[in-house]
Amino acid sequence: MSTAPSSVLETEHREITEAFMSFVRRELVPLSAELPETWGMPPADLRAHVRKRSARLGFYAGDYPEELGGSGMPFTAVVLLHQAAGRSGCPLAPYALAGSDGPSPLLRQGTPEQVERYLKPLVRGEATRCLALTEPNAGSDAFHLTSTATRQPAGDWVLTGRKTFVSNAGHADFAIVVARAAGGNGEDGPTAFVVDMDHPRLRIGQRYDGMSGEELCELVLDDVRVPAEAVVGGEEGIGAALGHGIDSLSRGRLVVAAMCDGIAEYALELGVAYARERRAFGERIGAYQHVQEHLVGSRAEVEAAKLLTLACARLVDGGVEAPENAALAKLTSSETAVRVVDRSLRVHGATGWVRGHPLEFLYRYVRMMTIIEGTSEIQKVIVARAMGLG
Ligand SMILES: Cc1cc2nc3c(=O)[nH]c(=O)nc-3n(C[C@H](O)[C@H](O)[C@H](O)COP(=O)(O)OP(=O)(O)OC[C@H]3O[C@@H](n4cnc5c(N)ncnc54)[C@H](O)[C@@H]3O)c2cc1C
Repeated sequence: MSTAPSSVLETEHREITEAFMSFVRRELVPLSAELPETWGMPPADLRAHVRKRSARLGFYAGDYPEELGGSGMPFTAVVLLHQAAGRSGCPLAPYALAGSDGPSPLLRQGTPEQVERYLKPLVRGEATRCLALTEPNAGSDAFHLTSTATRQPAGDWVLTGRKTFVSNAGHADFAIVVARAAGGNGEDGPTAFVVDMDHPRLRIGQRYDGMSGEELCELVLDDVRVPAEAVVGGEEGIGAALGHGIDSLSRGRLVVAAMCDGIAEYALELGVAYARERRAFGERIGAYQHVQEHLVGSRAEVEAAKLLTLACARLVDGGVEAPENAALAKLTSSETAVRVVDRSLRVHGATGWVRGHPLEFLYRYVRMMTIIEGTSEIQKVIVARAMGLG
């Protein structure tokens, strides 16, 4: 049994975590061994297989209630699964858990028809989606969207504008597009619409290759006409997208924090194992204080980050979803993961820098964690406001 401080908060859902890890070892590790490139974005058909299989076993979207196709897990259990997936070092494990292409909390505000048609297939892992929020001139400042949705006399809407840096746009079944409603009758404000990706006026524009192999896309809304039923949440959803989005941001940020904790722990384990074996100047390099400083500093930060994430997840299960808690956890865990991966790569010297080594990949991969779900600076803005500053 682990004596690490964070184990105090890990015991409660140990059975779920062990069952998940057994699935990873039994099914995903052998599949990973067949990947053409071990580290990188796995092919879409393999990701779909992993997603559906994990959903059937009850892990994917585990916190969604059973009536929606989930397993009704506490949120803390989901966070523990994300930590375990990262720590496993299995490149396919993260795809067994719902991420930014999976069920969107925004759709929980959907009409019964939207829940049936869009949310449930996502929970079952049978469909994926993308979220089109960011614009060329509105990233962190999502309140200043310029894409518009104009209500037509017949009640349908026409969406116009450009969205950028959209994950999974090339594979998604549908997009959740946030545009500013301008419908007359005082209707105004950011509104979410579901738009099928095969809509003839929804076009993928520029494609961007991410540092670690993921593709982001520009989405061009060229007078995309959608029926009134496309507004997420129906009439009550008009102007409500950012309010609903903000309500769900805390959980998304804690999931990112948990992924970072797991990755950091895996990177640290690699660093420690290497330092115990590698010899220089007649000694194992782990005997040198500069190397110890890298690894002990990382150990302290990883434990602190894990504890913070788990404590915040526990508070969520207890009904406390304070945005500043999630912001603190996401800030701490993402920045910790960047530092820990960097230090373990240093400990590996040239060996960790070579393409194909997990640390070489993680060094590129983990960097996005300080940008997605709000940059580190934006997390600090949230915490500063909660502290009564500015
Ligand atoms: C891997 C990846 C996946 C993504 N997926 C999606 C997706 O699926 N859908 C989607 O809509 N978007 C997505 N994005 C876009 C992402 O949400 C934005 O990049 C992010 O919100 C930051 O916006 P920006 O890039 O325009 O930077 P900007 O907002 O222009 O910020 C530039 C810099 O200024 C800082 N800054 C801005 N405002 C403040 C402030 N008030 N105080 C202090 N500093 C500030 C920022 O922290 C940053 O350092 C993705 C991005 C990445 C990297």
